[in-house]
Amino acid sequence: MSDRVLRGTRLGSVSYESDRHTEFAPRQRTVYDCANGHETAMPFAAEAEIPFSWECRVCGATAQLRDATAPEEKKGKPARTHWDMLLERRSTAELEEVLAERTDFADLLAEEQAQISPDDLVYFSHWITPEGLPIRFDTHFFLAELPESQEASHYPGEMAGGLWLAPAEGLRRHARGEFRIP
Ligand SMILES: [Zn+2]
Repeated sequence: MSDRVLRGTRLGSVSYESDRHTEFAPRQRTVYDCANGHETAMPFAAEAEIPFSWECRVCGATAQLRDATAPEEKKGKPARTHWDMLLERRSTAELEEVLAERTDFADLLAEEQAQISPDDLVYFSHWITPEGLPIRFDTHFFLAELPESQEASHYPGEMAGGLWLAPAEGLRRHARGEFRIP
């Protein structure tokens, strides 16, 4: 698992037209098999370059594309890791500051002149950086309601887009294969 890379569906790669008369881009269905016998089905756009491996949805092991042979190592274009994305956002010096515990979340809020009430935070998720990266992060994510005068934006280094959906509409789009809800 040392070469494991965090993957996510790029929101910008699929259509979000919700008009029911809209034709969605053609898709191809693929199946990945992990060593533990689990199947992971993934829809891709018809023109997408299909990755040879994917993370097993059941156990998290690396699963391989069914009926495919392993590609030769591509030279000169290593996969972009979570670590690479982090470096696009924060300089190494800034990260060192955090690691050395010279900066903490309260300082960051003060710098941004922001205030957060802990009562307003809703626990959402917990991610740990994959093994094998030089520095690993154990990160908790929280949700908070925005004040009326503010708008949320996505971070373009990691996501191609963002949108608001009612849960039922998200599930419908997931069922139609428009995007994946893990
Ligand atoms: Zn599995």
